[in-house]
Amino acid sequence: MPGKVWLVGAGPGDPELLTLKAVRALRAADVVMIDDLVNPAVLEHCPTARVVAVGKRGGCRSTPQAFIQRLMLRYARQGKCVVRLKGGDPCIFGRGSEEAEWLGTHGIEVQLVNGITAGLAGATQCGIPLTLRGVARGVTLVTAHTQDDSSLNWQALAQSGTTLVVYMGVAKLEEVRAELLAAGLAPSTPVAMIENASLPQQRECRCHLEQMQEAAHAFQLKSPAVLVIGEVAACGQMVVGDAMRA
Ligand code: SAH
Repeated sequence: MPGKVWLVGAGPGDPELLTLKAVRALRAADVVMIDDLVNPAVLEHCPTARVVAVGKRGGCRSTPQAFIQRLMLRYARQGKCVVRLKGGDPCIFGRGSEEAEWLGTHGIEVQLVNGITAGLAGATQCGIPLTLRGVARGVTLVTAHTQDDSSLNWQALAQSGTTLVVYMGVAKLEEVRAELLAAGLAPSTPVAMIENASLPQQRECRCHLEQMQEAAHAFQLKSPAVLVIGEVAACGQMVVGDAMRA
């Protein structure tokens, strides 16, 4: 009988932000395939499973997507319980649904498990509410990076009145800044750039849209980072100060 594949979100990095369901899947796993944005500390929940690193960065050549999918299929056909651990949520810029569909067409049972996506975690860890009564009626998650170089509708984003959270934006700061300014977003719009959200080495850089690139340069912002753009990005800056005074 074929096994099962769990496509699991491991959250943004803090192992305590893992869901109970993710922990249950890890405990049941024979094989765990782990992406490089996943904190290896979560592997404490599967001490006897075989762990296969299928990361795409860290100076290594990327593991081709087709290879990863075939590997999942092979293990599942051997009757194994496979957990594919992805950073954040598997369906937010994570190809979770593509993989689920592909495995489904090959007759494999799949279960998707939510994780806390980096944008939500990063904002919260910095005291930024992505929605706020009277300030931001919604939030839009976008990626600055596409394989086909298709363009975002920057006009619509600038006019939406929602908080913008940009993933994979570190190498595209100038483009994001220029497009949003050209689309009419105020140069003074607050921005928070959050690196390594939820990890002990988390850093945040606050600035205005206009100086986004210079600020990131001076801060030596590195990936992985999310950009939070909108009025709410000015919130929470006193959280640390208040805590220190308390
Ligand atoms: N599925 C993931 C996103 C994968 S795309 C999720 O839901 O979070 C990879 C991008 O996610 C990175 O370029 C960065 O923009 C963001 N990211 C992932 N982990 C992060 C972290 N700990 N801190 C800040 N950004 C992170």
